[in-house]
This record gives sequence, C-alpha cells and structure tokens, in this order.
Amino acid sequence: MRLILLGPPGAGKGTQAQRLVERHGIVQLSTGDMLRAAVAAGTEIGKKAKAVMDAGQLVSDDIVIGIVADRIDEPDAKRGFALDGFPRTIAQADALEKMLTEKGLKLDAVIEFKVDETKLVDRIVKRAKETEAAGLPVRKDDNPEVFAKRLQEFAALTAALSPFYRERGLLHTVDGMAPVDEVTDAIAAILKETAAV
Ligand code: AMP
Repeated sequence: MRLILLGPPGAGKGTQAQRLVERHGIVQLSTGDMLRAAVAAGTEIGKKAKAVMDAGQLVSDDIVIGIVADRIDEPDAKRGFALDGFPRTIAQADALEKMLTEKGLKLDAVIEFKVDETKLVDRIVKRAKETEAAGLPVRKDDNPEVFAKRLQEFAALTAALSPFYRERGLLHTVDGMAPVDEVTDAIAAILKETAAV
C-alpha cells in the first residue's frame, strides 16, 4: 500500500499515518520528522534546513526529494508507506512520480484532509501544550506566528497538488475536522474502495 496524506499543517495527517502504520504494517514517511532528526543530529542537511523550518518556510525541493528517494529504498518501506508532508510542491510531486515509475511502483491513493483553516491555529496551540505537559520538546514552528506562515506556504504551493492528483484519478477526500476515529474509518473505506487493502 502506497499512500500520500495531503493537507495543511495541523490537519491530522500524522495521527492518521500512525494508525495506518499500526493497522497495515506500512511505514510513515514524514519529511518533517526526517528533517527534524537531521537538525537534531546536526547533519549538513539539518544545518541547511534549520533556519528555513524555524521560519515556517519550505526546505528546497532538492533536499527533500533526496531524503525521500533514499528512504523509500530502505527495506522497511517495501511493504508500503504513507507519505506525510511530502510532496508539498508540484516539483516534488513530479519527482515522486518519476521515482516510483522507475521502480515500477504505483500510488494507491492520495488522501486529502479538508479542514477549516481558521480552526487549525487552536489545534496547533493545543498540540504544543500537550507536548509540553508530556515533558517533550515543543516544536519551534508550532506557535501562532510561524504557523500562519506555514499555512501561507500550503496555500501558495501545496494546494496545487489536489488538482494534480485529481487529474490522475488518485484523489480522495476526508473531513479532517471530524473526530479522529471517524477520519480513520473514512480512510479505511477509501482503502477498501481503491482495493489498496
Ligand atoms: P511538517 O512536520 O510536515 O509540518 O514539516 C515541518 C517543516 O519541515 C515545514 O514547515 C518545512 O519547513 C519542512 N518540510 C517538511 N516537509 C517538507 C517538504 N516536503 N518540502 C519542503 N519542506 C518540508
């Protein structure tokens, strides 16, 4: 099973990706997580990405495409993957399409999370508070100012991916404002319909 979870930050992609991992034994490929790990490890990529991420802007396509290309070749991704936060630009979507075609692989579905963007800031503030209460480090970009920039980046660059995947007959939509379990059920129904499971 190979999926893309598409939607603005705070839409619930990560939560649903984790559930897909538990249910189907696929891997969650979150470029945000991979980049944060690179920043924490102080790698060359991490050094290049840090300031851009802290400002809520997008890291360059070349860097992100390179990370994903390496990651999907790893053995644990062979059973399938849920891409979370990638692609975010048409250039990334083109590169992914090329990458998969070269490997003889196909996407099963792109799941778009429809959300009320005005409610997302509340979600992100809640996520930051819960993370803090759990004694975990809070993401530097989970604050209202940077979050506004991340939403702008989504509207300017990532929203174009919906028509891109609709044209390819891969786009399915779920209500990202529904309770978490309902979103999980809606995704399960899509996977059944597309015969991905
Ligand atoms: P996320 O965890 O998906 O919200 O990503 C956090 C940050 O990592 C984003 O605001 C970007 O700076 C960077 N990032 C993650 N994925 C990508 C991507 N596919 N393209 C460019 N930048 C990305």
